[in-house]
Amino acid sequence: MALLDRLREGLSRTKQQIVSQFDEIVHRADAQVPGADEIDVDTVEALEELLLLADVGVAATGRIVTAVASRASRSKSLRDFVKDEIRAIFDGVEPKGSEVSASKHASHVVLVVGVNGTGKTTTVGKLAHFLKASGKRPLVCAADTFRAAAVEQLAVWAERASVEIVRSDDGSDPAAVVFDAIQSGKASGCDPILVDTAGRLHTRVNLMSELEKIRRVAGRAAVGAPHEVLLVLDATVGQNGLAQAREFSNVVGVTGVVLTKLDGTAKGGIAVAIAHDLKLPIQYVGVGEGMDDLIPFSAANYVDALFQQQW
Ligand code: GDP
Repeated sequence: MALLDRLREGLSRTKQQIVSQFDEIVHRADAQVPGADEIDVDTVEALEELLLLADVGVAATGRIVTAVASRASRSKSLRDFVKDEIRAIFDGVEPKGSEVSASKHASHVVLVVGVNGTGKTTTVGKLAHFLKASGKRPLVCAADTFRAAAVEQLAVWAERASVEIVRSDDGSDPAAVVFDAIQSGKASGCDPILVDTAGRLHTRVNLMSELEKIRRVAGRAAVGAPHEVLLVLDATVGQNGLAQAREFSNVVGVTGVVLTKLDGTAKGGIAVAIAHDLKLPIQYVGVGEGMDDLIPFSAANYVDALFQQQW
């Protein structure tokens, strides 16, 4: 299936929620007398409500609605106008293809971070599979030594994806495991090295200082490492994810987001809020639990999948 179709399928719950109402708003707006300066207030309010319902967030919704209310020309349909406004929010925060698969380092080190349950381990597994399929030789590193089940789960993914894994005994120092993984990856020519980290420790402070240490130790094992820090956010959590993102960003310097479980929510508008409020590129989206359910994000495809006309 083409990427756009898979994204469309992943976003189907969000689309179902907004589609008929959005079509009606567009119809109403486009039917208004051409040349009349102002779009009527009810139409603008209906659009605002719809965007908030899809979790586009207050700030981004405000920007879109203000632009709609003050649009000077009716030469474009409201549908195209809204699509262009949303696409513009992603300007400057678009991933350049997939940064991971475009890596130029000998051993590109990617830390995958996020709160427990967001889909980190699953994402590392899917990403390893995706990169392997595109000709890379990834190595995965199980650095969530706090949770034995996470190490086992990653081992299962590594086997399914036929990639190498570096793991250690439960309770060992995760930074040491990361160091070993980078050394081993460099020695055996694996690239990239995908590191699954813990999402929960005894306290939040412990978690953050552990991540900070992993970051430091990775830098000692390879020049410039980690080259990427991907934050996994669960789309079903909605706006709370933004607070998580800020916390992780402050400590480990997040470079991009993987937005998981888009298939399980009608709040897929959260992608717009991430771009608008956090100014972070969304590198991939998760659209299911299977090995192939991770797709590189494209703002153009996203906007088309959500707002294109049904008939
Ligand atoms: P972690 O604690 O962050 O490592 O999270 P896991 O990788 O263990 O994932 C938690 C749950 O979310 C698992 O049941 C996964 O199968 C599920 N999951 C992860 N990504 C997706 C996704 O994109 N879509 C759906 N529907 N489920 C997902």
